[in-house]
Amino acid sequence: MASAPVRVRFCPSPTGNPHVGLVRTALFNWAFARHHGGTLVFRIEDTDAARDSEESYEQLLDSMRWLGFDWDEGPEVGGPHAPYRQSQRMDIYADVARRLQEAGHAYECYCTTEELEQRREAARAAGKPSGYDGACRELTAEQADAHRREGREPIVRFRMPDEPVTFTDLVRGELTFAPENVPDFGIVRANGAPLYTLVNPVDDALMEITHVLRGEDLLSSTPRQIALYRALAEIGVGNGTTPAFGHLPYVMGEGNKKLSKRDPQASLNLYRERGFVPAGLLNYLSLLGWSLSADRDVFGIDEMVAAFDIDGVNANPARFDLKKAEAINADHIRMMDVADFVAACEPWLKAPHAPWAPEKFDPKAFEELAPLAQTRLTVLSDITANVDFLFLDEPVEDEASWTKAMKPGADALLKTAREKLADADWNAEALKQAVITAGEEHGLKLGKAQAPVRVAVTGRTVGLPLFESLEVLGRERTLARVDAALAKLAA
Ligand code: GLU
Ligand code: ZN
Repeated sequence: MASAPVRVRFCPSPTGNPHVGLVRTALFNWAFARHHGGTLVFRIEDTDAARDSEESYEQLLDSMRWLGFDWDEGPEVGGPHAPYRQSQRMDIYADVARRLQEAGHAYECYCTTEELEQRREAARAAGKPSGYDGACRELTAEQADAHRREGREPIVRFRMPDEPVTFTDLVRGELTFAPENVPDFGIVRANGAPLYTLVNPVDDALMEITHVLRGEDLLSSTPRQIALYRALAEIGVGNGTTPAFGHLPYVMGEGNKKLSKRDPQASLNLYRERGFVPAGLLNYLSLLGWSLSADRDVFGIDEMVAAFDIDGVNANPARFDLKKAEAINADHIRMMDVADFVAACEPWLKAPHAPWAPEKFDPKAFEELAPLAQTRLTVLSDITANVDFLFLDEPVEDEASWTKAMKPGADALLKTAREKLADADWNAEALKQAVITAGEEHGLKLGKAQAPVRVAVTGRTVGLPLFESLEVLGRERTLARVDAALAKLAA
């Protein structure tokens, strides 16, 4: 393989919300570039005005930044091949299309959609390949004129070579595509708009991309692109080399079906809103087609960069496993510095996520309990329910918890516990002792004795370690809540 410096690209189209497949592609390209000390080009493929949106473009950039990716050329950073938004490069594509036609690599096709459809049907019925049949390949000037006089408007089609296209995929090995399976394809619409089939390889050639790493769904366009690169080299567009291709395996979702970008499970925003941390999400996504080692699933991005190479990518479909993603995320939350964890929780401790008024939030109280919360969260959004007892005036009302904890006898236990708590020094150890003693008087072990106290004070049967929670909540508020629970039980 060429020893030229690595230049890879991430080139999404700004349509809809970013999805995990896209992030995986970005991640593999980024890690590959960083591993090889190469260049990551971030290019926006926004030539489809009907589907692209500015909002989606902004979201893409924001997502890339949130994930912690940087790029060496592209939006906001510029570079020697600017602009990096294809919508701003239309003149380039028009010029290349014209030169391809002049050199005979492309031609005008006047066939109407109906004619193409009819011939496709006929070919299918005859059991023949049903792609474009080359009808306009050798039109004379007179025939073209006649078509124009009929009011037909031509598209531009690329002329595929008549021999097979063979290349060595970096993930899948040698692949060969027979000419009958790769018919001549459109590169410019009748209205002059260039198509993905043209602009993507033209920019890869001009931006001197050395490796194309992308999803397997794009594999069928690769022989066309390779043929196009060869033609571009002939007419002097780019530096004349064809990039190496590696197609990343499909990602399978629920029911072993391909995870589609419209699948709710695929939406990056979903993971972000649930409080996945970038390190956890990227760690998990790296496992979709790659692994650091057989016995380690949890690692940091720097370790990935140090170890990542394309020959470690597996061709077999990967399975998206939400439970595993969550477990890995939980590990990454645990690995954070407490200060970073506290900062990362912040969005969930404020409106609209948090159900308490902003002035009720007490950062000091939160910081005291944060280390205990940090070890228990799967996603950051869980933090709200874990600490709401601190910031709500009254504990949440959870019917199921109440019924479970407030069995007959709970009132007697709570009364005793209240007395012992009222007399205790206000620290976790003493508070625990108070509840143990109260339990003993009623023949209850600590586990049973603390349940009514927990529900009285926090509203829930599960939560952070109880006595540390009481310590932070304070004597007055704790006793008031036990009193309120006793009153409710007496009513
Ligand atoms: N804009 C294309 C897409 O998002 C890029 C395909 C490629 O990587 O070549 O599907
Ligand atoms: Zn035609």
